[in-house]
Amino acid sequence: MSQHAGIYRGRFAPSPTGPLHFGSLVAAMGSCLEARSRGGAWLLRIEDVDAPRCSMAAAGEILRMLEACGFEWDGAPVWQSRRDEAYAAALERLKAAGVVFPCACTRRELADSALAPDGAAIYPGTCRAGLAPGREARAWRLRVGDARLGFEDAIQGRIDSDLATEAGDFVLLRADGLFAYQLAVVVDDAEAGITDVVRGADLLLSTARQIHLQHCLGVATPAYAHLPVAVNAAGEKLSKQTLAAPLDANHPVPALVAALDFLGQRPPAELVRGTVAELWAWAGANWRLERVPRGPATAPAAVA
Ligand code: GLU
Repeated sequence: MSQHAGIYRGRFAPSPTGPLHFGSLVAAMGSCLEARSRGGAWLLRIEDVDAPRCSMAAAGEILRMLEACGFEWDGAPVWQSRRDEAYAAALERLKAAGVVFPCACTRRELADSALAPDGAAIYPGTCRAGLAPGREARAWRLRVGDARLGFEDAIQGRIDSDLATEAGDFVLLRADGLFAYQLAVVVDDAEAGITDVVRGADLLLSTARQIHLQHCLGVATPAYAHLPVAVNAAGEKLSKQTLAAPLDANHPVPALVAALDFLGQRPPAELVRGTVAELWAWAGANWRLERVPRGPATAPAAVA
């Protein structure tokens, strides 16, 4: 049994690909308030495993913004960019178990593959039974076989997935030598003893993959709650690509109130004129996960 058994441990895991925007603030608040309301720890992990898309400057801005918003995490943040050894060890275990295989396929060779619901190519199985003569491994993939996985999400309800048709054998070590997000998140959550994952519903499609990987590695599966995705007026998920407005570190309260409202918590209007400390006092006393809507929902215009 893990040393953390029975103790709630949550986390917020932003990717420093740009400044904190409203969508990530929603995930930060939801995960933090749920952890605190359950008497648990709330950890921070900087998900900079995809180095070409991340920057130290963005990570620094996110940390400063979280501080300005009054977030207090437990312990020092974990940086994925410093954890290659742990990811490599996990991959070795999967190799020893025979559940991963080297893949020589180029992006171009996979261009005609069927697409998963999230737009990613479903691997057609080319190298699954071994590399063709003369071909060199570029990446390592996890076999999904006919794994069907279901879980009870605290907000989204029952989610059932058929990994073969929804994801296919997915990459754990990329052709550019970087470990994939799916491996990093499972290894990190397991090592930190995370019992509950509260994050945006844009990651719902990753969850079955992560549960399959947890089974392959023999680590515990946390409980999941996927928060509604914040979209702009055009229905697009807020992100750096949709030019979501960065938050204002000098006046964070309006965005914090908007995030609570977005999460269905019905904050009183006068909170907007109060301090960050007053906002957290109200939120801590009034947070109810069962009020969070499934979404997706439009972010308030001022922060979209
Ligand atoms: N780093 C991911 C993101 O910013 C979140 C991963 C997770 O919470 O599991 O979208």
